[in-house]
Amino acid sequence: MSHTARTQGPSEHMGRRTVVTGGAGFVGSHLCRALLAAGDSVVCLDNLSTGRLRNIGDLLDRPRFTFLNADVVEPFAISGRVDLVLHLACPASPVDYFRMPVATLRAGGHGTYNALSLARDKGARFVVTSTSEVYGDPLVHPQREDYWGNVNPVGPRACYDESKRFSEALTVAFRDEYGVDTGIARLFNSYGPDMRGGDGRVVPTFIKQALAGKPLTVMGDGSQTRSLCYVTDTVRAILALAGSYETSPVNIGNPHEITMRELAEYIITLTGSASPVRYVEAHPDDPQRRRPDIGRARRVLDWEPEVRLFDGLKETIASFTPAGDLSAV
Ligand code: UDP
Repeated sequence: MSHTARTQGPSEHMGRRTVVTGGAGFVGSHLCRALLAAGDSVVCLDNLSTGRLRNIGDLLDRPRFTFLNADVVEPFAISGRVDLVLHLACPASPVDYFRMPVATLRAGGHGTYNALSLARDKGARFVVTSTSEVYGDPLVHPQREDYWGNVNPVGPRACYDESKRFSEALTVAFRDEYGVDTGIARLFNSYGPDMRGGDGRVVPTFIKQALAGKPLTVMGDGSQTRSLCYVTDTVRAILALAGSYETSPVNIGNPHEITMRELAEYIITLTGSASPVRYVEAHPDDPQRRRPDIGRARRVLDWEPEVRLFDGLKETIASFTPAGDLSAV
């Protein structure tokens, strides 16, 4: 454990009261479950624009869990003590943020402002989930936290990239001006059960297509790469950052890099599908290569991903089969 991490076991933060914005989303719902398991009381705030109640259906009647159907971009009040604010609320799939660019920018602007204000007023630690998209279409590979990125500020992805870059800047400003205890997690692509089948992201899209025997829609020539981190690894890293004093941005992702063509072929094999691959037009400004340098996360959080792509994809595919049937995978 590094000198920047708080040395605390789960029992030492028993009773922590944590607010998770975007808690009904894909990463957020896994995070809420992990927080409850660690002994926290959880207030989950979500406007259900891209999150889903079914993601937290098993948590709704848990005594230490409260769901607030509210939009983080509008002023909201949470009474009582708050020890930790985890700000995840934001559309995160390109398909979603292309559809709602203004809401995406407001989530990073007004939403981050409201979440930070809550942390300031309550004296809570604050962690924002930023993104590898702050690096844009990177000219440096793999990406380290000290790379400033290559972002088109007026391109179609700007609503997301600049929203998250603004979130980071506002987080630093609240730290400097108000002394808020802040952390910044730069998440690279995460995947796992409970992604919306229709959310447009590559893993659920390919799995649904393969299971339906339909062509897998590989965008461009499929040579672009991503590095896919299984959601339990992502959540473990966010919790480690939340429990540390780290203030600098920390990349959270799996350095195992794969082309989208290889990913399509792998999912066809794992599902035993007879689907072909179909090459379709790429999204404009689609980043060509993406792989995190996770040296800082290893050093300051004592964290690295543990779940291999094979195992993670098997679990994810099972969650898309009617009975979560692993034998079919
Ligand atoms: N992609 C693809 N087919 C799809 C959806 C996505 O080939 O049906 C590619 C997309 O071009 C991108 C990568 O998969 O290069 C990851 O896309 P995703 O939307 O999952 O997330 P991003 O990393 O772009 O935010």
